[in-house]
Amino acid sequence: MPKPPLTVECPTCSAPVEWSENSPNRPFCSDRCKLIDLGAWAAEDHAIPGNELEDDLFSEDMPPRRDH
Ligand SMILES: [Zn+2]
Repeated sequence: MPKPPLTVECPTCSAPVEWSENSPNRPFCSDRCKLIDLGAWAAEDHAIPGNELEDDLFSEDMPPRRDH
């Protein structure tokens, strides 16, 4: 009795992906989804809003305190 194939969801498009040698791009359903995901990560790396956001929050917080 063969084991049922394990399937995972493609992180990019949520399509079911068979976790086997039939899916060389697993956990992605296709090479395109793999590239899209890698591109998304690269884009996030280039636009790290962390420090900018904190600066905005602090600079917004300061003036009202001085006004009051
Ligand atoms: Zn996909």
